[in-house]
Amino acid sequence: MDLVFRARRVVTPQGEIACDVGVVDGRVVAVEARIDSPNVVHLADDEVLLPGLVDTHVHVNDPGRSEWEGFGTATRAAAAGGVTTIIDMPLNSIPPTVGAEALEIKREAAADVSVDVGFWGGIVPGNLADLEPLHEAGVFGFKCFLLHSGVDEFPAVTTDELEAALRQLATLDALTIVHAEDAHTVRESEPDYAGFLASRPREAENKAISDVVALTRKTGARTHILHLSSSDALSILEAAKRESLPITAETCPHYLTFSAEEIRDGQTEFKCCPPIREAENREALWQGLRDGVVDLVVSDHSPSTVELKQGDFATAWGGISSLQLGLPAVWTGARERGFQLTDVVRWMATHPARQAGLESKGAVEVGKDADLVVFAPDETFVVDREKLHHRNPVTPYHGRALHGVVRQTWLRGRETGQAQGKLLRRGEA
Ligand SMILES: [Zn+2]
Repeated sequence: MDLVFRARRVVTPQGEIACDVGVVDGRVVAVEARIDSPNVVHLADDEVLLPGLVDTHVHVNDPGRSEWEGFGTATRAAAAGGVTTIIDMPLNSIPPTVGAEALEIKREAAADVSVDVGFWGGIVPGNLADLEPLHEAGVFGFKCFLLHSGVDEFPAVTTDELEAALRQLATLDALTIVHAEDAHTVRESEPDYAGFLASRPREAENKAISDVVALTRKTGARTHILHLSSSDALSILEAAKRESLPITAETCPHYLTFSAEEIRDGQTEFKCCPPIREAENREALWQGLRDGVVDLVVSDHSPSTVELKQGDFATAWGGISSLQLGLPAVWTGARERGFQLTDVVRWMATHPARQAGLESKGAVEVGKDADLVVFAPDETFVVDREKLHHRNPVTPYHGRALHGVVRQTWLRGRETGQAQGKLLRRGEA
């Protein structure tokens, strides 16, 4: 063995156990009661060994808007937050990842990363011919918007255009991930939070999700609903799953943590699309996780510069930064509601890895990469935005007390800081 981790608590697919985890060449080769080795990492009594998290929803914005975030800062933040794999969204960078050439430009921008990085491609009007080359070049699937994306170089598709893309992607068995808000239901926002919330009502999500369910049924393509906020749509998704349609859904730490009632006018660090809704809606999303209707929890880390994030709710950039904070934020809410670390690992590591087809990620198990997190679940800390590795120190979590401290993150058997991340292609990781 190159290395053995010894812990009283290890979260494995069989539940939480006391054991040793043996590593050779960056892979887990044994999970046993006792492994003899001169190189043992002993976890303290208050520490738990988790698999590295897989965050499939990260906007790195590099190249083109690297003043918003960059591969160096984003992947250092990921490592500090216990995230060992990210998959980068195809928009907000320039060029957007809507063709194989743009993917190569991305990969060059990501030459120096602290965790493993994969890429989503994009579906925009007129790029049908680019989808298969992008798929062959190794993107993990394809993202599209059903309303204005926030940046002009990544336009939305109509449902007819989405249907044409799904027909083609079904033949490749590729996954399509959808920003599901209906363009005709969303209205112009007012400057205050109540006006912003009313401009992007639950009905906009419900309508768009119903449309995606109908297209999934019609085309047979695999689809996924990004950043679910409207709890009304849980029943639509539950029915689709009962029908065995190949559809999954995610929600995000901010929808599980905050509520509309606590957001004051001018607190634009809380602005995201779809919006954070009422406390009652938040509790229904937790129930959706409990029932298995919501499959995964990922950050939707979508930063901008401090300047763009200021102003009022009509004009400020819509996006929340939380890549480094997702694990403690979700664990804090989960433990209050009686969930276990095994639940959090399922939502934030195992299911995202499975959804993206990352076979060597997402669990502490023989054959997987030795991506491991030493986590102290009972220790608390107060979030200080100045101490985050994100490029811009804006986050609604600032000042909030959270449970759970990431003490060490290991990537393929090396502690991050000394480890170098890899650029991943679909089917190779
Ligand atoms: Zn996003």
